[in-house]
Amino acid sequence: MGKSKEENPFQNMLKQLKTACDRLDLDPGIYEQLREPQRSVIVSVPIRMDDGSIKNFTGYRVHYNYARGPCKGGIRYHPNVTLDEVKALAAWMTWKCAVVNIPYGGAKGGIVCDPLKLSQGELERLTRRYTFMILPMIGPEKDIPAPDVYTTQQTMAWIMDTYSSFLGYSVPGVVTGKPIPLGGSLGRAEATGRGVMLCTLEALKKFKMDPRKTSIAVQGFGNVGSNAAKLLYNEGCKIVGVSDVSGAIIDPEGIDITDLLEHVKITKNKLIEGYNRGEFIKGAIEGNKALLEIQCDALVPAALENQITGENADKVKAKMIVEGANGPTTPEADKILDEKRIFLVPDILANAGGVTVSYFEWVQGLQAYFWSETEVNRKLKEIMVSAFNAVYETSDIYKVNMRTGAYILAIRRVAEALKLRGLFP
Ligand code: NAD
Repeated sequence: MGKSKEENPFQNMLKQLKTACDRLDLDPGIYEQLREPQRSVIVSVPIRMDDGSIKNFTGYRVHYNYARGPCKGGIRYHPNVTLDEVKALAAWMTWKCAVVNIPYGGAKGGIVCDPLKLSQGELERLTRRYTFMILPMIGPEKDIPAPDVYTTQQTMAWIMDTYSSFLGYSVPGVVTGKPIPLGGSLGRAEATGRGVMLCTLEALKKFKMDPRKTSIAVQGFGNVGSNAAKLLYNEGCKIVGVSDVSGAIIDPEGIDITDLLEHVKITKNKLIEGYNRGEFIKGAIEGNKALLEIQCDALVPAALENQITGENADKVKAKMIVEGANGPTTPEADKILDEKRIFLVPDILANAGGVTVSYFEWVQGLQAYFWSETEVNRKLKEIMVSAFNAVYETSDIYKVNMRTGAYILAIRRVAEALKLRGLFP
């Protein structure tokens, strides 16, 4: 809807899927099943607004493929949510869970709304009514939602409470990304950023680069971007640029991320704007342009989809890209980056730390036995490092880039499960 072809995430996902399936020489019957979600539901979500009027919102929940286990995926509240976007994100969740080899299928949900214009009360009523509308689809053994853009721990608490109210007992396993007192996992909040950091360090190792001599730029300073920047900074990397919706800070001498985080914490909208060191380039468009074209060793896009495109890929100067966001690079850009021999760690691997610790949260909840943060981080590292190396080896064997390598690995696992299960009826 209103998006150019290059910007339709589902069409982009289908292109990536086809490239991998061609290389895998996949059974056409399996390819046929992988090109569409198994189940897509559109719901109407009417709520009473604070002024007494009734407003109807549109919501979606997509189960892309559950051959490998219960569906897993976040819920996004955003004005630009479309069914195609939710389908693409659900497919990426399917491949992502398979890349890190956790026993889940992929799902995603969303509501078309502008959460910044809704009160807490309206958000709560919207969340509860949406939960009611998708109730038959979700559950600890069926589909376990989690937060995504503009949904939070609080949103998960409301979903869990609504679901539990219908069943008549507490069901913490119905969502992940919950607040700690309701059964959330230690380490979940920074898990995606930690996974990005671990993938960056593994990639640096392959190039025999020392993290303490590496310069990094991070686009987006929200959950993923700020944690990735902080953890890489703690590893000794020099963060030469960060951006968010307000603009970009560029500093070739290196930004003190601890100090910047303090600044962001105390500002009203949690933005980097107003920070008094480095050069500030105001505005999302100008800031992004400066950040994506910066001279650095590694670039971490951790904001939105379609940031590195056919238009600007040629201007990227980084040696490697580690995709913190989902779908930040278009297929047109991929071709250009390949020609420039820029090493790219794809989203379905790089940002899989979040779903991995969500899996830990679900496992801990089902056992009603909770682990220490050190334990969570150790298990996360094990999975991320082994997934990175499995993708690296697959790319090497098939002589393809890391994105296609990750797809080949993931699709092979999903296809194997589909084949073993056979076709019902
Ligand atoms: P968030 O809402 O916490 O942060 C988003 C950041 O992007 C904010 O700093 C915002 O200011 C910035 N931003 C928004 N528009 C921008 C623009 N036009 N230019 C530059 N910056 C802009 O969201 P998040 O949870 O950090 O998610 C970021 C991305 O990572 C999304 O693609 C999401 O799907 C993906 N992701 C998140 C997780 C997770 O665990 N949170 C897991 C996997 C993938």
